[in-house]
Amino acid sequence: MVELIEEIREKLKEYEKKGIRKKIHISDLTPRDGQQCKLATRVRTDDLLPLCEKLDKCGFYAVEVWGGATYDVCLRYLKEDPWERLRRIKEVMPNTKLQMLFRGQNIVGYRPRSDKTVKKFVEKCIENGITVFRVFDSLNDNRNIEVAVKTIKEFGGEVHAEISYTRSPVHTYEKWMEYARELAEMEPDWISFKDATGIMPPFECYQIIKGLKEATEGRIPVLLHNHDMSGMATINHMMAVLAGVDMLDTVLSPLAFGSSHPATETIVAALQGTPFDTGLDLSKIAEAAEEAKKIKKKYKKYETEYAGVNAKVLIHKIPGGMISNMVAQLMEANALDKMEEALEEVPRVEADLGYPPLLTPSSQIVGVQAVLNVITGERYKTITKEVRDYVEGKYGKPPGPISKELAEKILGPGKEPDFSIRPGDLADQEEWDKAKEEVFKIIGREPMDEEILLYILFPMQAKEFLSLREKGELHPEPVEELPEVTEAPAGTLANAAPVEFDIVYHGEKFRVKVEGVSAHSEPGKPRKYYVRIDGRLEEIQLSPIKEAVPSGGASAVASEEETGIPKASQPGDATTPMPGKVVKILVKENQPVEKGQTIAIVEAMKMENEIHAPIDGIVKKIFVKPGDQVNPDDALIRIEPYKEDKSYQ
Ligand code: MN
Repeated sequence: MVELIEEIREKLKEYEKKGIRKKIHISDLTPRDGQQCKLATRVRTDDLLPLCEKLDKCGFYAVEVWGGATYDVCLRYLKEDPWERLRRIKEVMPNTKLQMLFRGQNIVGYRPRSDKTVKKFVEKCIENGITVFRVFDSLNDNRNIEVAVKTIKEFGGEVHAEISYTRSPVHTYEKWMEYARELAEMEPDWISFKDATGIMPPFECYQIIKGLKEATEGRIPVLLHNHDMSGMATINHMMAVLAGVDMLDTVLSPLAFGSSHPATETIVAALQGTPFDTGLDLSKIAEAAEEAKKIKKKYKKYETEYAGVNAKVLIHKIPGGMISNMVAQLMEANALDKMEEALEEVPRVEADLGYPPLLTPSSQIVGVQAVLNVITGERYKTITKEVRDYVEGKYGKPPGPISKELAEKILGPGKEPDFSIRPGDLADQEEWDKAKEEVFKIIGREPMDEEILLYILFPMQAKEFLSLREKGELHPEPVEELPEVTEAPAGTLANAAPVEFDIVYHGEKFRVKVEGVSAHSEPGKPRKYYVRIDGRLEEIQLSPIKEAVPSGGASAVASEEETGIPKASQPGDATTPMPGKVVKILVKENQPVEKGQTIAIVEAMKMENEIHAPIDGIVKKIFVKPGDQVNPDDALIRIEPYKEDKSYQ
């Protein structure tokens, strides 16, 4: 430690003596990573444009506006065409390089695609306005970024190849350097070191950044992308600067810190007047920050309690986004009381899977399986399709070995996983042509490449989106702003419910104000209330137990007659462990099935879950079809046990 500080002193002395200036570049990530971390990626293009216009005037190295979750959320929730978003942003940002986050062979989805799809995607990105590609693979299996990297260079884009940080017994300093040398061979324009969880300690940060510069002999500039979950990211930024970093990733102050990144203003100001001055103008950045503030206000209902600094991440090492997914999954399964258990299960699943860094898609793969292990009461009783695929090598080579027990459970006794084949080669090589045909059927005309890409990456969401758009019936979800209500002093209106009141709890007094209630309420599921407690906005999950009937009568909730799906009542009724959407039915009526056989696939939490036959027998009735929304108490498929006389056999 003393040596390290001595080293920094010497370096600074030299800078001063020789008058060396080293401008630190800044990439602002507010329109993508910033809003993804803080506002669940829900900001509409219309609201992003004024921000982008201001960002264009700041002189950042690049601005991240696309990729990551934006593509999925545009289709799934906002009913926007992500490609159109990109074109509109490009129009208002003529002076700045547009940057995107690219998940290597997974592109912007959750599983690897064919090389043809990856190449087409890159080509279309460049055509529509992207210059800088941040390319990573969540396992750091660099075979998964090769094709993207090559194609980006071919089409004149700029490659920032990423290494994803995590802490595990197999992730040593030497391992990081090994990854760096691998990447250097691909000759990217930049190497990006990314801590998506925000758990890297500052002195380690210094060592790694210094090491990366040495490993690449200073030929390739290095940048740091450091989420701030534990609150250490700003310190890391300074350490990285001292270690020789060339660029830092930041987010405008209204959406900065915590699950997001250090604030742009903070870092620019911290380096001002030093040899590392960014050269950026704080007053121009402040104008952009004003726009970010407006966005934050409009979308405040999407801010969760996990968006702030949560130093507990240093203990459980689970990124914020993954925790909120697990909470949602547990809540829907009515098992929120198992959260602690699920958090404890995560590191065990992580170890079983060879310590993948917890970012998309491995964070979802680990998180969903950990929750399933806890809610089914038995580890790996239900194994997601993704975990199976992972063990079969379809995502790539994990950093460490897979648990022998799990591998045998999936591959068969005595079998060992084989990671020798590139995931891109294991992906469906015909997916492009198949998707083209499907899209043609949906829209009744020759599809554009962008439309085919929407479909390949998110078939269910794209099908709905494309057919509605073709009919001109695409109605974007309204922004669920917290409703304005008429308020009156207490006691002046008859039958009014209090919306602002003082409560005394354990002798302590709190001022409580109900700001709003989520519009969506499904029977038996918690509803979100937005409550201000002593001025701080909190999100509260409220699970109604009893409800009073208002005068004028109550309206009924959706029943079997409406959905056509009966509640599970027999041992042969196959159910889903989590609420989700039916993707595929794999059996036909009157077909014999064996207990444990996969009979349907249900997508929940963006993962495909296998539904198994609960008993041996004959498929008597299929109650659901692809696209149906199903809940854990629904009977999806009814299987009747074989008759005593075995007449079926
Ligand atoms: Mn990030």
